[in-house]
Amino acid sequence: MDQRLSVAIVGGGIGGLAAANAMMRRGLKVTVFEQAPELGEVGAGVMLTPNCIRLLQRMDLGAEIDRLGARITEGSSYRRRDGSVVGPIKTSDTAGQCGVYGMHRADLLTMLANRLPRDAVRTNHCCVGFSQDAQAARLSFANGETFEADVVIAADGIHSRLQREVVEPARPVFSGMVAYRGLVPADRLPQWRRDVHLIWMGEGKHFMVFPVRSGQLLNFVGFLPSDYAAEESWSGLGDAAALAQSFTGWEAPVEQILAKVEKPFWWGLFDREPLDHWTRGRLALLGDAAHAMLPHLGQGANQSVEDAVALAAMLARAQRSDVAQALVAYEQMRRPRAVKVQLGARANGRRYDSQYDDLAQRDAEIADAGTLRAWLYDYDVEKELGC
Ligand SMILES: Cc1cc2nc3c(=O)[nH]c(=O)nc-3n(C[C@H](O)[C@H](O)[C@H](O)COP(=O)(O)OP(=O)(O)OC[C@H]3O[C@@H](n4cnc5c(N)ncnc54)[C@H](O)[C@@H]3O)c2cc1C
Repeated sequence: MDQRLSVAIVGGGIGGLAAANAMMRRGLKVTVFEQAPELGEVGAGVMLTPNCIRLLQRMDLGAEIDRLGARITEGSSYRRRDGSVVGPIKTSDTAGQCGVYGMHRADLLTMLANRLPRDAVRTNHCCVGFSQDAQAARLSFANGETFEADVVIAADGIHSRLQREVVEPARPVFSGMVAYRGLVPADRLPQWRRDVHLIWMGEGKHFMVFPVRSGQLLNFVGFLPSDYAAEESWSGLGDAAALAQSFTGWEAPVEQILAKVEKPFWWGLFDREPLDHWTRGRLALLGDAAHAMLPHLGQGANQSVEDAVALAAMLARAQRSDVAQALVAYEQMRRPRAVKVQLGARANGRRYDSQYDDLAQRDAEIADAGTLRAWLYDYDVEKELGC
């Protein structure tokens, strides 16, 4: 009989695939179940920050990130809508060892999936049921299949089906903002630098651009207030003309990039209040299922990778008989930091959208973003775990 712990991961997003990589590296037996017919069909740019980059480098993915991502360099800045600079954007950890990268979500998912054995990921598997007892946890899927494992990880995103098996379902909190995002081929904007992250801040809205896919594509996101809580979906089509109109009169590069946009996608910005618990018995939540957050610290993907690495280390030390304790240890370690990031993302959104009576105070905080970001970027989850 296979003595390894068997882990079923529900959700083949960034958190689920990162967890599968981290767990296989530690000798666990892993199967990922994804509802979609293909991995990574939808999405645009995600930022990978040093707290995550150092973990992916240890999985031997550094060269792939260099190849597929776009390293963000000096010259990145926070600006007012007229282009006046408020301060630099931090582009590495304090030691200067790990950088910040823009990456297309599809490239990141492909990179993570390519490291897994082919039969480790089962697409077209929408999880619809969960049960557990002293011996095992069981999953059932919409296609009629079932699966039994020692541990189940719910990495099934902001709409998590499995979250309700752990806590009372948490209602989504609408932030009052919607985001329009999309990609513009960089050769359509030859004057644009392909290695900088720029954020423009105006009253009640902000706009950002960063490169992905080794600088071939520029990823933009425009954040706007809205009474209408556009769906919590990543794939709604937005109106390019209305988007351009909302940023009329902003610094020329903002208007220039928006003039090239044909079909932006939009999504409503929701998060959840921090959950009281992340685990129940053999089941643990990970990534957005555990701590759905606003994107204003760029940490959704990065925190899910931290979760993944922590959980893999905890389970690698566990026996079949003490799986539940290992999951509680994971929650105790990860939850305080993730809650701090969840709440920090809300606060940073207020900075970017200039929701301050005293804008000089906002500017001072932004100009000191290096300090603000150090606790995020310098953190090494494996060092904290002593491994
Ligand atoms: C389609 C999509 C596009 C995104 N685009 C961007 C983007 O452009 N920029 C950005 O910064 N962030 C984006 N994100 C969010 C970002 O990927 C996450 O915030 C972050 O990576 C945390 O990842 P996660 O693994 O917890 O959740 P997700 O990345 O959301 O992954 C959850 C996965 O679980 C699957 N799933 C859900 N329910 C079930 C079920 N019942 N059974 C089986 N599988 C299930 C989903 O299909 C999905 O693949 C996107 C997320 C999604 C799902």
